[in-house]
Amino acid sequence: KANIITRKFDAVIIGAGGSGMRAALELSRAGLSVASLSKVFPTRSHTVAAQGGVSASLGNMSEDNWHYHFYDTIKGSDWLGDQDAIEFMCREAPNVVIELEHFGMPFDRNPDGTIYQRPFGGHTANYGEKPVQRACAAADRTGHAMLHTLYQQNVKEKTNFFVEWMALDLIRDASGDVVGVTAIELETGDLYILQAKAVLLATGGAGRIFAASTNAFINTGDGLGMAARAGIPLQDMEFWQFHPTGVAGAGVLLTEGCRGEGAILRNSDGERFMERYAPTLKDLAPRDFVSRSMDQEIKEGRGCGPNKDYILLDMTHLGAETIHKRLPSVEEIGHNFANVDITKEPIPVVPTIHYQMGGIPTNINGQVVIKTAASNADVVHGLYAVGECSCVSVHGANRLGTNSLLDLLVFGKSAGKHIVQTVKAQHEHKPLPADAADRTLARLNRLQESNSGIYSQDIAGEIRQSMQQHAGVFRTQKGMDEGVIKINAIREKVAEVTLQDKSKVWNTARMEALEVDNLIEVAQATMTSAAARHECRGAHTVYDYEHPADHPDFPLGRNDKEWLKH
Ligand code: FAD
Repeated sequence: KANIITRKFDAVIIGAGGSGMRAALELSRAGLSVASLSKVFPTRSHTVAAQGGVSASLGNMSEDNWHYHFYDTIKGSDWLGDQDAIEFMCREAPNVVIELEHFGMPFDRNPDGTIYQRPFGGHTANYGEKPVQRACAAADRTGHAMLHTLYQQNVKEKTNFFVEWMALDLIRDASGDVVGVTAIELETGDLYILQAKAVLLATGGAGRIFAASTNAFINTGDGLGMAARAGIPLQDMEFWQFHPTGVAGAGVLLTEGCRGEGAILRNSDGERFMERYAPTLKDLAPRDFVSRSMDQEIKEGRGCGPNKDYILLDMTHLGAETIHKRLPSVEEIGHNFANVDITKEPIPVVPTIHYQMGGIPTNINGQVVIKTAASNADVVHGLYAVGECSCVSVHGANRLGTNSLLDLLVFGKSAGKHIVQTVKAQHEHKPLPADAADRTLARLNRLQESNSGIYSQDIAGEIRQSMQQHAGVFRTQKGMDEGVIKINAIREKVAEVTLQDKSKVWNTARMEALEVDNLIEVAQATMTSAAARHECRGAHTVYDYEHPADHPDFPLGRNDKEWLKH
C-alpha cells in the first residue's frame, strides 16, 4: 500500500516559469504560504528560451499606443480573440513592463536610456498603416533575462520552491471545487497530497505532442492533462502556431526578432517572396500568414536545397556588428545547429510547431471557467490557470509574437492578486474527499502492475508522428478524420504502458510514462477540435474550407479579402 504524505498550504502553484513566478510573487509578498512546484530548476523553465521580446506600447503615444496594440492583437487573432481580455492586456502592458524594469530586468537601451524596442510580426501603428517598434528586448535573450529577474524577486520574497517535483492530478471535492493536488518528489518517488485553498496551473506549453517542435522536452502539457482528467473541457485546441523560422532539420527556433532587425525570407530563385503575399508588412506579416506563404512556395517547387524542402532566411546584409549586438544567440544557433555563419550566408528554415493558442479556459483573473451552451463562465472554485497552458483567449486563432511574455506578466499578476483576496477571505481549508488520491494511485499501480511490453517512448513517438502528419500547417478533413481514429487507437495503448525499471527513486522512465498520460489528452483534444472546425481560421488552415471572409455575408462585417493581405 502506498505511503501518502499530506501537507497543507494556502496556495499551490504548479510551474515556476514566467507566469507561475509572476503570480508567486504576489502571493509571497502578501505573506501567504505557497508551494511553487517545478519539474526542473525554476530558471530552466521554458520561458528561458524566449528570444525576441515582450510587447508594450511605451514611450511616445502618437507613434504607438495601446489602441493600436489592441487592434493588431484582435486582427492577428483572426478575429477570434476575446476582445475584453485583449483590451485588459494591452492597457496593462506598459505597467507590467515598467514594473519588470523596476525589478531589475536588464533590457537593451536606446541612446537616450529608454528601453530598446524592435519591430515584430503584425505590430503596426495607425491600424495597420506601417510597422512599429513595440517588442521590448534584451538582445535575443529576453526570456532568459525575464526569468532570472522574476526568480531573484521570488528569492527575495522567500517563495517556497519545490524543485524537481511533478504534480500529477487535481483533487476535486463533491461540489467540484479544487481542494489540492497529488504530486511526487522525483528524487525519492514519494507521493504527496498538497492540500490548498487555491491551486494555480502554470505548466507551460505542450509542443512535444508534435515531432518537429521548438519546445523543450518538459513541455508535455501536464496542466492540460490534469484539467482534462478532472473533467474540465479545454478550449481552442485546434489552434497551434507554426513559427516560420525553425532551423530546418533541427527544430530550434530563430527568433522573429531576426526579421524585426531586417532579415529576409528567400526562395530558390533568391526572391523576397513575402513582398508578393503581404505587400505592406512583407516578412513581418503575422506568423500564420508567413508560414502558409512559405509552405506554398515549397509546394510550388521554389523551396531550396537538394530536396527543395526549405526556405532561406537571409541576414547577411545586416552586418556582423548588428548581429553580434542584437542577435548573439541566433549566431550561436547558426553555428551549432546548421553549421552556418549567419553573417556570411543564409540559413535554412521551415515552419515549426511553436505555441498553443488554446488551453484551460479562464477569465481575466485567471479563474478556470467551464463554458457550456447554458453558461459562459461557471467558475471552478479553487482552480486558476495562467501562461501558455491557459486560454483567456487573448491569442484567438493566432498569437502575435511577443504577446506571450506579456500574457504571462499581465495574467500572472492578476491571478496572483485574485488568489490573495480569495485565500484571505477563506479561513479554513475545505476537507479532502476520501478518494483524494485514487486517480493518481490507479495510474501509478497500472504502471507498476502492467507487463504489456508497451513503453512510453514508443507511444510518445507514435503520438508525435500522427500529430505531425494529420495536424500540420495545411490540413484536410480526410487527414484530420484519420488522425482522430489513429489518436483514439493510441489512447488504448497508453492505458497499457508499462515500465522496464519499476524502481521509485529518480526513475525518469516513470516520469515519461506519467507525461504520456498528458500528451494523449492534449493530442486527442487537438485532433478532435481540429476535425470539428469546418472553416479556415488563423493557424487552422484546411484545404476543404474557405475562410469566413470569403463569404459575402462575412459575420464580422468585412466582405473584402484585402485584410488577408496584411
Ligand atoms: P514555462 O516557462 O514553460 O514554465 C512551465 C513550468 O511548469 C516549468 O517550471 C515546468 O517545470 C513546470 N511544470 C510543467 N509540468 C509540471 C508538473 N507536472 N509538475 C510540476 N511542474 C511542472 N513569447 C514571447 O512573447 N516572446 C518571445 O520572444 C518568445 N520566444 C520564444 C522562443 C521559443 C524558442 C519558444 C519555444 C517560445 C517563445 N515564446 C515567446 C513563447 C513563450 O516563451 C512561452 O509561451 C512562455 O514562456 C511560457 O511560459 P509559461 O510560464 O506558461 O511556462
